[in-house]
Amino acid sequence: MVSEATRKSMQGNKRSNTKPELLVRKELRAAGYPGYRLQWNRVPGHPDIAYPGRKIAIFVNGCFWHHHKGCKYATTPRSNIEYWHNKFETNMARDKKDKAILEDMGWRVVVIWECELKKKKLAGTVEYVVTEIEETDRLIAAENARRQAQRDGILHVVHPRRWHVVWQVEDF
Ligand SMILES: [Zn+2]
Repeated sequence: MVSEATRKSMQGNKRSNTKPELLVRKELRAAGYPGYRLQWNRVPGHPDIAYPGRKIAIFVNGCFWHHHKGCKYATTPRSNIEYWHNKFETNMARDKKDKAILEDMGWRVVVIWECELKKKKLAGTVEYVVTEIEETDRLIAAENARRQAQRDGILHVVHPRRWHVVWQVEDF
């Protein structure tokens, strides 16, 4: 026997467009960050929500299936304990591996737990995700500025020579 909450969580496993995902997407649009891609399968782990241009992967994790550490929703059914234990271990190991691979690829990985979307915690959770996006945008802008400065630097070096050539031509 599993509890109602567990049964609901189980139904949510491996599905896209789950209620928590829809909620996160709605909040992201409201915060001014549309343009995400769903189930982005060009990178490992197929992030539920991704901003490929920014290299941000957002996972909306069910507390039951991904076994949110210390969370009251991360229950273990009383029958087939060993089966569930292995299942959770496998899921958690996979999450950890996907995160590591994505980070190696230069992606920022943001994990949102289902319990963090409850009414009381929603605002704080959205703020956290938005901060992550803003921070990424700041880093991208800084990198672009650095590259631009580098290009400008090269032009500064090139220009004097050009002027030099022009003067020489005019001298003749
Ligand atoms: Zn949780």
